[in-house]
Amino acid sequence: MLTSLDACRHCRLTLREDPRDPFTFPMHAQRYNAVAGWHAWTPPTQQQILARMRARREVELAARAGRRPRVLP
Ligand SMILES: [Zn+2]
Repeated sequence: MLTSLDACRHCRLTLREDPRDPFTFPMHAQRYNAVAGWHAWTPPTQQQILARMRARREVELAARAGRRPRVLP
């Protein structure tokens, strides 16, 4: 499964159940992660967002070409 573009910098969970609807249940709250420890939702870095966009594009191109998606560096 692809990581949502706005998923947390540390744990890949989105801030809300439905990121487009600000009234949905906030899923993240405080989470524990072995690297970051207890943390609130933290916006992803520009580099993470770009990598997630590239992964989505690769999956879409692969689906159109009828091949398996490549593992991106
Ligand atoms: Zn998190």
